[in-house]
Amino acid sequence: MPELPEVETVMGGMRHSICNKLIDRVQVKRRDLRIPVNDDFAQRLTGKVIKSLKRRGKYIIMELEPDNLHIILHLGMSGRIRIFESSNNKDYEPRKHDHIIIRLKDGTIFAFEDPRRFGLMYIASEKDWRKEKPFISMGPEPLENWNAQDLLTKLKNKKANIKISLLDQRVVVGLGNIYVCEALYYAGISPLRSANTINEDEAERIVKISKEILEKAIKAGGSTLKDYQHTDGSLGYFQHNFAVYDKENKDCPKPSCKAKIKRITQGGRSSFYCPKCQR
Ligand SMILES: [Zn+2]
Repeated sequence: MPELPEVETVMGGMRHSICNKLIDRVQVKRRDLRIPVNDDFAQRLTGKVIKSLKRRGKYIIMELEPDNLHIILHLGMSGRIRIFESSNNKDYEPRKHDHIIIRLKDGTIFAFEDPRRFGLMYIASEKDWRKEKPFISMGPEPLENWNAQDLLTKLKNKKANIKISLLDQRVVVGLGNIYVCEALYYAGISPLRSANTINEDEAERIVKISKEILEKAIKAGGSTLKDYQHTDGSLGYFQHNFAVYDKENKDCPKPSCKAKIKRITQGGRSSFYCPKCQR
């Protein structure tokens, strides 16, 4: 599943290729995505300009002009964006799971491919989508207005453990399973700790480290953007190096530690941690 840094990278690639361009033609091949594509999606998009892109959690918001409508896009589990600019649009061959294809006036082709259809793409006014689920109850963006005091307040009344709590979108949005595992490792906090036992100093560490590792991953993704158009036109997937994520039974990265990374299941998802370094 794409995590926040991948979404940022995909958005960077999209911004480069589709912003300030006029939508010429829209094909919707399947409407039954996680949220059904609007019946009049193609009609409402045609003739609009894609003005800017922003992110809320793992959702990409595409702002259109002149009507101030927004396209809400989520990659779900398996969603991919493929873009072919006028220079290579002859290479575009529709794939079986290209559910939405947008052709821009300058020849650019944008395809949303999603075999498992947990992703979504629909159009709404800003006023409407902001008051809908899940946006209405979303917590702060980890890279923007998130701070230790806010985190502490939210954890105070939680009975769940810190791992589950950091995945709760009302606490903070878009941190995701991988980055919660990594942040707790670098903060030296066990994923088994009750959220309400986290003190001020620990909350500071969680917030600071989460921001650092997300920024580092976004930077790594950004550096892949120079060849952002992979041969198949897809955007934004790249290799990461993790300290504990997916490292079951591997040595803890801290040389003096010698413990093995443990994997447990919490709330149906894998947690990876060092039983010695994380308390
Ligand atoms: Zn360790």
